[in-house]
Amino acid sequence: MSLTNSNRLVIKVGSALTAPGNNGCSSKYLKNIADFIQTCRRQGKEVILVSSGSVAAGRQWFANEKPSKALKKAMAAAGQTNMMTVWSKLLDMPLGQILLTHADLCNRERYVSIKETIESLLNNGLIPIINENDTVTSDELKVGDNDNLAAMTAAAVDADALIMCTDVNGFFDKNPNVHSDAKLLKHVYEITPSIYAMASGPVSSTGTGGMLTKVEAAEKATAYGIDAYIVNGFDSSSLEQLANGINPGTHFLPNEEPLTPSIHWMTHTVRECGEVIIDDDNSNFYGSDQRLTSENILEVKGQFSIGDSILVSSNDGKNIVKATANYSSCLLNHISQKQDEDDTDEHKSLQEYSIVSKEHLAVLENT
Ligand code: GLU
Repeated sequence: MSLTNSNRLVIKVGSALTAPGNNGCSSKYLKNIADFIQTCRRQGKEVILVSSGSVAAGRQWFANEKPSKALKKAMAAAGQTNMMTVWSKLLDMPLGQILLTHADLCNRERYVSIKETIESLLNNGLIPIINENDTVTSDELKVGDNDNLAAMTAAAVDADALIMCTDVNGFFDKNPNVHSDAKLLKHVYEITPSIYAMASGPVSSTGTGGMLTKVEAAEKATAYGIDAYIVNGFDSSSLEQLANGINPGTHFLPNEEPLTPSIHWMTHTVRECGEVIIDDDNSNFYGSDQRLTSENILEVKGQFSIGDSILVSSNDGKNIVKATANYSSCLLNHISQKQDEDDTDEHKSLQEYSIVSKEHLAVLENT
Protein backbone atom coordinates (compact mmCIF):
# COMPACT_ATOMS: atom_id res chain seq x y z
CA MET A 1 0.00 0.00 0.00
CA SER A 2 1.34 3.45 -0.84
CA LEU A 3 1.72 5.92 1.99
CA THR A 4 -1.12 7.97 0.52
CA ASN A 5 -3.55 5.28 1.67
CA SER A 6 -2.02 4.80 5.12
CA ASN A 7 -3.95 6.27 8.02
CA ARG A 8 -1.74 5.62 10.99
CA LEU A 9 2.02 6.04 10.82
CA VAL A 10 4.87 5.38 13.20
CA ILE A 11 7.86 7.55 12.32
CA LYS A 12 11.20 6.64 13.84
CA VAL A 13 13.92 9.26 14.01
CA GLY A 14 17.45 8.21 14.93
CA SER A 15 20.07 10.05 16.93
CA ALA A 16 22.08 10.75 13.76
CA LEU A 17 19.28 13.20 12.88
CA THR A 18 18.63 14.68 16.31
CA ALA A 19 22.33 15.12 17.05
CA PRO A 20 24.37 15.33 13.85
CA GLY A 21 27.42 16.33 15.93
CA ASN A 22 26.76 13.51 18.43
CA ASN A 23 26.12 16.11 21.11
CA GLY A 24 23.02 18.14 21.97
CA CYS A 25 19.72 18.18 20.10
CA SER A 26 19.62 20.21 16.92
CA SER A 27 16.61 21.34 14.93
CA LYS A 28 18.73 21.33 11.74
CA TYR A 29 17.25 18.10 10.33
CA LEU A 30 14.29 17.74 12.66
CA LYS A 31 12.66 20.77 11.02
CA ASN A 32 12.15 18.78 7.78
CA ILE A 33 10.78 15.85 9.72
CA ALA A 34 8.42 18.11 11.69
CA ASP A 35 7.21 19.56 8.35
CA PHE A 36 6.65 16.03 7.06
CA ILE A 37 4.65 15.18 10.19
CA GLN A 38 2.52 18.31 9.72
CA THR A 39 1.90 17.38 6.06
CA CYS A 40 0.81 13.88 7.07
CA ARG A 41 -1.55 15.31 9.67
CA ARG A 42 -3.05 17.68 7.11
CA GLN A 43 -3.65 14.59 4.96
CA GLY A 44 -5.71 13.22 7.85
CA LYS A 45 -3.14 10.71 9.06
CA GLU A 46 -2.41 9.94 12.69
CA VAL A 47 1.27 10.11 13.57
CA ILE A 48 3.23 8.50 16.39
CA LEU A 49 6.83 9.60 16.69
CA VAL A 50 9.54 7.37 18.11
CA SER A 51 12.48 9.65 18.73
CA SER A 52 15.96 8.66 19.81
CA GLY A 53 18.44 11.25 20.95
CA SER A 54 18.11 11.66 24.70
CA VAL A 55 21.61 10.38 25.44
CA ALA A 56 23.19 12.60 22.78
CA ALA A 57 21.07 15.56 23.92
CA GLY A 58 22.24 15.17 27.51
CA ARG A 59 25.89 14.62 26.65
CA GLN A 60 26.57 18.38 26.61
CA TRP A 61 26.17 18.62 30.40
CA PHE A 62 28.60 15.84 31.26
CA ALA A 63 32.35 16.14 31.03
CA ASN A 64 33.08 12.44 30.49
CA GLU A 65 34.09 11.62 26.90
CA LYS A 66 33.56 7.89 27.26
CA PRO A 67 30.56 7.58 29.58
CA SER A 68 29.80 4.40 31.49
CA LYS A 69 26.35 2.77 31.18
CA ALA A 70 25.33 4.48 34.42
CA LEU A 71 26.39 7.90 33.15
CA LYS A 72 24.52 7.35 29.86
CA LYS A 73 21.35 6.84 31.90
CA ALA A 74 21.91 10.21 33.57
CA MET A 75 22.54 11.76 30.14
CA ALA A 76 19.25 10.28 28.92
CA ALA A 77 17.42 11.71 31.94
CA ALA A 78 18.85 15.16 31.29
CA GLY A 79 18.60 15.01 27.52
CA GLN A 80 15.03 13.73 27.22
CA THR A 81 13.50 17.04 28.38
CA ASN A 82 15.81 18.95 26.06
CA MET A 83 14.81 16.79 23.11
CA MET A 84 11.11 17.14 23.91
CA THR A 85 11.52 20.92 24.04
CA VAL A 86 13.03 20.90 20.54
CA TRP A 87 10.18 18.74 19.17
CA SER A 88 7.61 20.87 20.95
CA LYS A 89 8.94 24.06 19.33
CA LEU A 90 9.13 22.49 15.89
CA LEU A 91 5.75 20.77 15.94
CA ASP A 92 4.01 23.57 17.81
CA MET A 93 1.21 21.38 19.09
CA PRO A 94 0.42 19.32 22.19
CA LEU A 95 2.60 16.24 22.62
CA GLY A 96 2.41 13.23 24.91
CA GLN A 97 5.68 11.74 26.12
CA ILE A 98 5.81 7.97 26.64
CA LEU A 99 8.95 6.29 27.97
CA LEU A 100 8.94 2.52 27.69
CA THR A 101 11.05 -0.49 28.46
CA HIS A 102 10.92 -3.91 26.90
CA ALA A 103 9.61 -5.23 30.20
CA ASP A 104 6.56 -2.94 29.78
CA LEU A 105 5.84 -4.27 26.31
CA CYS A 106 6.23 -7.90 27.43
CA ASN A 107 3.70 -7.57 30.21
CA ARG A 108 0.18 -7.98 28.80
CA GLU A 109 -1.46 -5.57 31.27
CA ARG A 110 1.12 -2.84 30.70
CA TYR A 111 1.03 -3.48 26.94
CA VAL A 112 -2.72 -2.91 26.87
CA SER A 113 -2.29 0.20 28.99
CA ILE A 114 0.31 1.57 26.53
CA LYS A 115 -2.06 0.89 23.61
CA GLU A 116 -4.92 2.65 25.39
CA THR A 117 -2.80 5.69 26.23
CA ILE A 118 -1.60 6.06 22.64
CA GLU A 119 -5.19 5.69 21.35
CA SER A 120 -6.39 8.39 23.77
CA LEU A 121 -3.60 10.77 22.76
CA LEU A 122 -4.37 10.24 19.07
CA ASN A 123 -8.13 10.52 19.56
CA ASN A 124 -7.58 13.91 21.15
CA GLY A 125 -5.28 15.16 18.41
CA LEU A 126 -1.96 14.96 20.29
CA ILE A 127 1.23 13.44 18.95
CA PRO A 128 2.64 10.65 21.12
CA ILE A 129 6.44 10.81 21.28
CA ILE A 130 8.02 7.58 22.42
CA ASN A 131 11.52 6.70 23.54
CA GLU A 132 13.03 3.88 25.53
CA ASN A 133 13.14 4.70 29.24
CA ASP A 134 16.93 4.45 29.31
CA THR A 135 17.18 5.60 32.93
CA VAL A 136 15.41 2.57 34.40
CA THR A 137 16.54 -0.21 32.07
CA SER A 138 19.11 -2.89 32.63
CA ASP A 139 20.40 -4.97 29.73
CA GLU A 140 17.72 -7.62 30.33
CA LEU A 141 14.85 -5.13 30.48
CA LYS A 142 15.52 -3.03 27.45
CA VAL A 143 14.75 -3.32 23.77
CA GLY A 144 18.13 -1.70 23.16
CA ASP A 145 17.37 0.14 19.94
CA ASN A 146 14.54 2.32 18.82
CA ASP A 147 14.09 0.60 15.43
CA ASN A 148 12.73 -2.51 17.13
CA LEU A 149 10.90 -0.40 19.71
CA ALA A 150 9.18 1.49 16.88
CA ALA A 151 8.16 -1.77 15.17
CA MET A 152 6.73 -3.19 18.41
CA THR A 153 4.84 0.07 18.91
CA ALA A 154 3.55 0.00 15.33
CA ALA A 155 2.09 -3.47 15.91
CA ALA A 156 0.68 -2.49 19.31
CA VAL A 157 -1.30 0.40 17.81
CA ASP A 158 -2.27 -1.31 14.53
CA ALA A 159 -0.32 1.19 12.43
CA ASP A 160 -0.37 0.93 8.63
CA ALA A 161 3.18 2.09 8.06
CA LEU A 162 6.51 2.28 9.85
CA ILE A 163 8.91 4.91 8.51
CA MET A 164 12.51 4.70 9.71
CA CYS A 165 14.32 7.95 9.00
CA THR A 166 18.06 7.54 8.88
CA ASP A 167 21.24 9.02 7.38
CA VAL A 168 21.44 6.92 4.18
CA ASN A 169 19.09 6.66 1.19
CA GLY A 170 17.61 3.30 2.13
CA PHE A 171 18.66 -0.33 2.29
CA PHE A 172 21.66 -1.29 0.16
CA ASP A 173 22.93 -4.72 -0.85
CA LYS A 174 26.19 -3.81 0.93
CA ASN A 175 27.46 -0.98 3.07
CA PRO A 176 27.37 2.12 0.80
CA ASN A 177 29.90 3.88 3.03
CA VAL A 178 32.47 1.21 2.21
CA HIS A 179 31.49 -0.09 -1.26
CA SER A 180 31.07 2.42 -4.07
CA ASP A 181 29.13 -0.17 -6.13
CA ALA A 182 26.52 -0.78 -3.40
CA LYS A 183 23.02 -0.89 -4.88
CA LEU A 184 19.89 0.50 -3.29
CA LEU A 185 17.05 -2.06 -3.03
CA LYS A 186 13.84 -0.18 -3.81
CA HIS A 187 11.57 -3.02 -2.71
CA VAL A 188 12.06 -5.95 -0.39
CA TYR A 189 9.32 -8.53 -0.81
CA GLU A 190 10.56 -11.01 1.76
CA ILE A 191 13.04 -10.76 4.59
CA THR A 192 15.26 -13.76 4.06
CA PRO A 193 18.63 -14.69 5.58
CA SER A 194 20.31 -13.13 2.50
CA ILE A 195 18.65 -9.79 3.34
CA TYR A 196 20.07 -10.07 6.84
CA ALA A 197 23.48 -10.87 5.38
CA MET A 198 23.35 -7.59 3.40
CA ALA A 199 22.55 -5.64 6.56
CA SER A 200 26.04 -5.68 8.01
CA GLY A 201 26.36 -1.89 7.83
CA PRO A 202 26.33 1.01 8.16
CA VAL A 203 26.12 1.22 11.92
CA SER A 204 25.30 4.65 13.24
CA SER A 205 28.09 6.25 15.25
CA THR A 206 25.56 8.27 17.25
CA GLY A 207 22.65 5.92 18.03
CA THR A 208 22.64 2.27 18.95
CA GLY A 209 20.97 0.86 15.85
CA GLY A 210 22.22 0.18 12.36
CA MET A 211 20.91 -1.56 9.27
CA LEU A 212 20.59 -4.85 11.14
CA THR A 213 18.13 -3.46 13.67
CA LYS A 214 16.22 -1.77 10.82
CA VAL A 215 15.82 -5.10 9.04
CA GLU A 216 14.70 -6.71 12.31
CA ALA A 217 12.18 -3.90 12.74
CA ALA A 218 11.00 -4.29 9.15
CA GLU A 219 10.53 -8.02 9.74
CA LYS A 220 8.45 -7.35 12.86
CA ALA A 221 6.33 -4.75 11.07
CA THR A 222 5.74 -6.66 7.84
CA ALA A 223 4.82 -9.81 9.80
CA TYR A 224 1.91 -7.76 11.17
CA GLY A 225 0.91 -6.53 7.71
CA ILE A 226 2.55 -3.11 8.13
CA ASP A 227 4.45 -1.43 5.28
CA ALA A 228 7.97 -0.53 6.41
CA TYR A 229 10.24 2.11 4.85
CA ILE A 230 13.83 3.16 5.31
CA VAL A 231 14.30 6.73 4.08
CA ASN A 232 16.92 9.43 4.22
CA GLY A 233 15.80 11.87 6.90
CA PHE A 234 18.58 14.31 5.97
CA ASP A 235 17.00 14.86 2.60
CA SER A 236 13.82 16.96 2.62
CA SER A 237 12.92 15.86 -0.92
CA SER A 238 12.79 12.21 0.24
CA LEU A 239 10.22 13.13 2.83
CA GLU A 240 8.23 15.20 0.31
CA GLN A 241 8.16 12.26 -2.10
CA LEU A 242 7.03 9.94 0.66
CA ALA A 243 4.19 12.31 1.60
CA ASN A 244 3.12 12.18 -2.08
CA GLY A 245 3.00 8.40 -2.09
CA ILE A 246 6.36 7.89 -3.84
CA ASN A 247 8.90 5.55 -2.29
CA PRO A 248 12.17 7.52 -2.01
CA GLY A 249 14.16 4.79 -0.26
CA THR A 250 13.41 1.16 0.46
CA HIS A 251 9.92 -0.23 0.86
CA PHE A 252 9.55 -3.55 2.72
CA LEU A 253 6.25 -5.01 1.63
CA PRO A 254 3.88 -6.41 4.23
CA ASN A 255 3.24 -10.14 4.51
CA GLU A 256 0.14 -11.25 2.68
CA GLU A 257 -0.84 -13.45 5.60
CA PRO A 258 -0.11 -11.37 8.70
CA LEU A 259 0.08 -12.94 12.13
CA THR A 260 -2.83 -12.38 14.51
CA PRO A 261 -2.17 -9.68 17.15
CA SER A 262 -1.63 -12.11 20.02
CA ILE A 263 0.63 -14.45 18.03
CA HIS A 264 2.58 -11.45 16.72
CA TRP A 265 3.00 -10.09 20.23
CA MET A 266 4.19 -13.45 21.49
CA THR A 267 6.57 -13.98 18.56
CA HIS A 268 7.97 -10.50 17.94
CA THR A 269 7.66 -8.57 21.20
CA VAL A 270 7.78 -10.95 24.10
CA ARG A 271 11.11 -12.31 25.25
CA GLU A 272 10.93 -15.66 27.01
CA CYS A 273 11.75 -15.82 30.73
CA GLY A 274 12.75 -19.48 30.72
CA GLU A 275 12.74 -22.71 28.78
CA VAL A 276 11.20 -26.14 29.04
CA ILE A 277 12.89 -28.95 27.15
CA ILE A 278 10.78 -31.89 26.05
CA ASP A 279 11.44 -35.10 24.19
CA ASP A 280 11.45 -34.59 20.42
CA ASP A 281 8.72 -37.28 20.16
CA ASN A 282 6.33 -34.70 21.63
CA SER A 283 7.44 -31.82 19.42
CA ASN A 284 4.15 -31.73 17.47
CA PHE A 285 1.98 -31.51 20.58
CA TYR A 286 0.50 -28.15 19.55
CA GLY A 287 -0.97 -29.60 16.34
CA SER A 288 -2.54 -32.63 17.99
CA ASP A 289 -4.92 -33.45 20.83
CA GLN A 290 -1.96 -34.18 23.04
CA ARG A 291 -1.48 -32.09 26.17
CA LEU A 292 1.99 -31.12 27.20
CA THR A 293 2.22 -32.17 30.83
CA SER A 294 4.94 -32.31 33.43
CA GLU A 295 5.58 -35.92 32.40
CA ASN A 296 6.91 -34.70 29.04
CA ILE A 297 9.52 -32.44 30.61
CA LEU A 298 13.19 -33.35 30.39
CA GLU A 299 14.56 -30.11 31.81
CA VAL A 300 13.41 -26.72 33.08
CA LYS A 301 15.76 -23.77 32.55
CA GLY A 302 15.54 -20.28 34.03
CA GLN A 303 13.03 -18.86 36.47
CA PHE A 304 9.50 -17.99 35.48
CA SER A 305 6.13 -17.44 37.08
CA ILE A 306 2.63 -18.42 35.96
CA GLY A 307 1.69 -16.19 32.99
CA ASP A 308 5.29 -15.55 31.88
CA SER A 309 6.35 -16.49 28.36
CA ILE A 310 8.54 -19.50 27.97
CA LEU A 311 10.27 -21.29 25.15
CA VAL A 312 9.41 -24.94 24.63
CA SER A 313 12.21 -26.72 22.82
CA SER A 314 13.07 -30.31 22.08
CA ASN A 315 16.11 -32.22 23.20
CA ASP A 316 17.38 -32.30 19.62
CA GLY A 317 17.83 -28.52 19.83
CA LYS A 318 14.71 -27.28 17.98
CA ASN A 319 12.72 -24.32 19.28
CA ILE A 320 9.11 -25.50 19.08
CA VAL A 321 6.82 -22.80 20.49
CA LYS A 322 6.80 -19.69 22.61
CA ALA A 323 3.90 -19.89 25.03
CA THR A 324 2.39 -18.68 28.28
CA ALA A 325 3.35 -20.85 31.24
CA ASN A 326 0.58 -22.33 33.32
CA TYR A 327 3.04 -23.22 36.09
CA SER A 328 6.04 -21.55 37.67
CA SER A 329 9.50 -22.94 36.98
CA CYS A 330 9.76 -23.78 40.65
CA LEU A 331 6.64 -25.98 40.64
CA LEU A 332 7.53 -27.57 37.29
CA ASN A 333 10.97 -28.48 38.57
CA HIS A 334 9.44 -29.92 41.67
CA ILE A 335 6.78 -31.98 39.84
CA SER A 336 9.04 -33.22 37.06
CA GLN A 337 11.72 -34.36 39.50
CA LYS A 338 9.34 -36.00 41.91
CA GLN A 339 6.97 -37.64 39.45
CA ASP A 340 8.42 -41.14 39.72
CA GLU A 341 8.57 -41.25 43.49
CA ASP A 342 5.56 -39.18 44.53
CA ASP A 343 2.14 -40.50 43.75
CA THR A 344 0.00 -38.18 45.81
CA ASP A 345 -3.35 -37.07 44.42
CA GLU A 346 -2.07 -33.53 44.26
CA HIS A 347 0.76 -34.52 41.95
CA LYS A 348 -1.48 -36.68 39.82
CA SER A 349 -3.91 -33.85 39.29
CA LEU A 350 -1.09 -31.43 38.40
CA GLN A 351 0.20 -33.91 35.85
CA GLU A 352 -3.12 -33.80 34.02
CA TYR A 353 -2.91 -30.13 33.11
CA SER A 354 -1.02 -28.75 30.17
CA ILE A 355 2.05 -26.77 31.16
CA VAL A 356 1.26 -24.22 28.43
CA SER A 357 -2.08 -23.06 27.01
CA LYS A 358 -2.57 -23.96 23.37
CA GLU A 359 -4.61 -20.75 22.90
CA HIS A 360 -1.59 -18.70 23.95
CA LEU A 361 1.25 -20.04 21.92
CA ALA A 362 3.22 -19.08 18.86
CA VAL A 363 4.70 -21.80 16.71
CA LEU A 364 8.33 -21.02 15.88
CA GLU A 365 9.04 -21.79 12.27
CA ASN A 366 12.63 -20.67 11.75
CA THR A 367 14.37 -22.90 14.21
N1 GLU B 1 17.06 5.53 23.60
C1 GLU B 1 18.29 6.05 23.04
C2 GLU B 1 18.35 7.57 23.16
O1 GLU B 1 17.32 8.21 23.25
C3 GLU B 1 18.45 5.72 21.59
C4 GLU B 1 18.35 4.31 21.16
C5 GLU B 1 18.70 4.19 19.67
O2 GLU B 1 19.59 4.91 19.21
O3 GLU B 1 18.08 3.40 18.97
O4 GLU B 1 19.42 8.13 23.09
